[in-house]
Amino acid sequence: MKVYTGGACDGDPGPGGWGVLLRSGRHQKTLHHSAATTTLSRMELTAFVHALECLKKPSQVRLHSASAYLRDVLTKDPGRPDQESRRNADLMRRLGNCADLHVLSWQSTTDGVDAAYLEWINRVALKEMLAQAASKATTRAQAPKPASTPVPDLDKECRHGMKVAYCANCKQPMAGVLPNGYRTKGGTTYHNDPDCYWLRWGQTQAHRQGKNLRDIVSIAWSNVVPGELEPCEFCCTVHWLLGSGRVRQISW
Ligand SMILES: [Zn+2]
Ligand SMILES: [Zn+2]
Repeated sequence: MKVYTGGACDGDPGPGGWGVLLRSGRHQKTLHHSAATTTLSRMELTAFVHALECLKKPSQVRLHSASAYLRDVLTKDPGRPDQESRRNADLMRRLGNCADLHVLSWQSTTDGVDAAYLEWINRVALKEMLAQAASKATTRAQAPKPASTPVPDLDKECRHGMKVAYCANCKQPMAGVLPNGYRTKGGTTYHNDPDCYWLRWGQTQAHRQGKNLRDIVSIAWSNVVPGELEPCEFCCTVHWLLGSGRVRQISW
């Protein structure tokens, strides 16, 4: 059983969304929802807890997640919860209730089709968050449920004769990543923002060390080979997109 979780939150606390995709052989299931006032770690943990709660039989669960918090929850001593986990005590209890039934493991590197599913579920979570944020602006009543999201078959061959996860035309941009961004020649990071603090800092460091400055070039995310570039942790975030007012440019 592979479990892919995604979480998004605008602020701490703020409106948030979560999504989880369970895949086992030909079976798959998606769950997603939002919360008006929450934290990122709560959204990530909620996604994982919901996944485990819908498994009735003992399962080998491999978790794919971009969340450092979930990694710590799974790999660190449960007898010594950190501050974040103490804040999420209710969810940690639910996790504890179902964790004994299963063998849980953390997938440290995710690439290819798995990475594409992880991106997809993070977009589901982001959509939930945006719907929640929008509903908050008009009414504080129940958040509207976004239209049900069919799971794309990323394993299948697309009309270009490639796996969908790898096809430049068929794969979708990642949550937090704009379709067109910037990189330095030979660099390993994808930036939304050509004036990104980290991008400029890297240039300054190279300059100080007397290295030749690498040119900053524009690149489309669809042209990035899976695993070639990592999205910048500073400017390729939902938070940055919301702050920059460019979130509408994400294509779902
Ligand atoms: Zn294609
Ligand atoms: Zn950046």
